[in-house]
Amino acid sequence: MAASIQRTAREELRALQSERLRETVRHAYENVPFYRERLEEAGIGPDDVDGIDDIQNLPFTTKEDFRDEYPDGLFAVDDDELLRIHASSGTTGKPKIVAYTESDLELWDEVMARSLAAAGIEPGETFQNAYGYGLFTGGLGFHGGAEERGLTVVPTGSGNTQRQVELARDLESDAIGCTPSYALYFAETAAGMGVDPRELPLSTVLYGAEPCTEPMREEIENRLGATGIENYGLSELIGPGVAVECHEAQDGMHVWEDHFYPEVVDPRTGEPLPEGEEGELVLTSLSKEALPVLRYRTGDLTTLTAEKCDCGRTMVRMDSVTGRADDLLIVRGVNLYPSQIEDVVLEFDEIAPHYRIDLYRENALDRMELTVELVEGFDGDREALREAIGERLHNALSFTPDELELVEHGAIERTEVGKVKRVYDHR
Ligand SMILES: [Zn+2]
Repeated sequence: MAASIQRTAREELRALQSERLRETVRHAYENVPFYRERLEEAGIGPDDVDGIDDIQNLPFTTKEDFRDEYPDGLFAVDDDELLRIHASSGTTGKPKIVAYTESDLELWDEVMARSLAAAGIEPGETFQNAYGYGLFTGGLGFHGGAEERGLTVVPTGSGNTQRQVELARDLESDAIGCTPSYALYFAETAAGMGVDPRELPLSTVLYGAEPCTEPMREEIENRLGATGIENYGLSELIGPGVAVECHEAQDGMHVWEDHFYPEVVDPRTGEPLPEGEEGELVLTSLSKEALPVLRYRTGDLTTLTAEKCDCGRTMVRMDSVTGRADDLLIVRGVNLYPSQIEDVVLEFDEIAPHYRIDLYRENALDRMELTVELVEGFDGDREALREAIGERLHNALSFTPDELELVEHGAIERTEVGKVKRVYDHR
């Protein structure tokens, strides 16, 4: 079932999605006062959903709703049916609390095992899980799926990187799961210990939880001599395990849409966009018990394609997230995402994959300082390089930072635990 559903005909998949959407709306309506109220406001009863196309009539759920309903206002089952609680890190305010029944945890294991299989990680291989354990869904989400897949799990969690390098070498880890910034930090730490990261047995880096551009993927692959596979998920839906690249094509992440229905909408109007257009990803859970989620506005910008993939899977693919709607930088009226700057800067072989963006306001004017790091041992003409980067940014983005600073290798702070921070808005 698990293998065939990934390659099922689109019409069959839609029939399954329709059935599951009906059940999910009924479950939410009957058991969550918040959803009952929202649906009634929209004039929708549990019998008004016939098929998956009706999803466009349903109201959205937002991260503010999660905060307003803190801690358990969105739960759809009694407390004694809950086996697990997680929480998503909020930079400000209360965390979003999420919960799982036994069946939800089985579902999670299944979609994670599927993700590991799509990444090309075979039963019997050793998986070093460097995602953070604890309330964050990354660690335990990967852990359960890796066991389900029949892998040997090394549950290192994040941090303690010298130890991680030793374990990867001594236990011959075949794959590591971590954030993209941590993969680079891991490679640097290994090199600093006199261990060539390319000589480590790692053949797959399963990265996620942060946006990652294509040039950044190349850096990870080159430094570790491994295949980089991106995965996507979010606690509000389940955690990791919503979408993953297949190792056959490495060309967009297959969304496990028998359980998570994706749409892309205009972030301003909320109107659905045609396939292939970039907009905000909206996700609906189709089989969750404890926390059914209708049309969740993820804030992540991406595109979807239903074109058949080389791997034979028929499930739609989403592009790497170009940015969160929240990450949009508006600098002197120009809209920019940090990922666009990353794309340009990493085209230069002289530049290491580390940068920071500082924003200030001086005399009512925005001011951006971009700091980029030189590769180890750079001894070329800095001024010429600086000019070339400035010119390239200007051509690609019609934007030039007010100050562009080149710093020595290692000068930009690394992130060993948690998500990388590259933008510092002092305005
Ligand atoms: Zn594929």
